[in-house]
Amino acid sequence: MTDGKHQVISIVLIEDEAQILRFVRAALEADQYQVIGAETGKRGLIEIATRRPDLVIIDLGLPDMDGIEVIRDIRSWSNLPILILSARDNEIAKVNALDVGADDYLTKPFGLPELLARVRALLRRLARHSNPEDGSSLVSFGNVKINLAQRIVTKNEIPIHLTTIEYRLLTQLITNSGRVMTHRVLLRDVWGPNHSENTHYLRVYMSNLRRKLEEDPNVPKHILTESGVGYRLVLS
Ligand code: CA
Repeated sequence: MTDGKHQVISIVLIEDEAQILRFVRAALEADQYQVIGAETGKRGLIEIATRRPDLVIIDLGLPDMDGIEVIRDIRSWSNLPILILSARDNEIAKVNALDVGADDYLTKPFGLPELLARVRALLRRLARHSNPEDGSSLVSFGNVKINLAQRIVTKNEIPIHLTTIEYRLLTQLITNSGRVMTHRVLLRDVWGPNHSENTHYLRVYMSNLRRKLEEDPNVPKHILTESGVGYRLVLS
């Protein structure tokens, strides 16, 4: 996009409710995204495979197949950003969808500004990861700087000691910054597959990380809790 040419960003939207499909499509198109609608999971998978979109938005309640199966299928061959739309009364499906690799979620009913903000955030994250000049080992948020190559963490330029587990947790959050990381995924990645139910570990270590890294640990601005789901690191 640096050459000034307009680059079309395409989004596959899998949603069986015609009204929601229409209104989300209109909002995205008004923001210059190209939208490819699909009313079933099977159709959605075909569109994704053939059109190679930049992002997928998927409703979890589909008529022909489980949205979670659609996400699992996509993740078996692609890392493209996936935003899920879930019903308020289906927390379990939402968490399962995030566990199998969805990046973020919106709970119905949602506002269009929120939807557009989530889409922009996911696309920014993608741009950051695909920019070769950004393979930097320096990461910062708030007054915290992390040198990943040297494993040095500072806050207000003062070195902060993190335990091995705290550091591993922090690097998992950094690698996935902007995404919602479920309890299960964090536990599996940091402690291993046998600990995926021990959410109290996470609570303890997250509170340690906040105490060490947040300006005000009681009002965290970067290490955020996604209630009932997991955690999200916000870098900016
Ligand atoms: Ca539905």
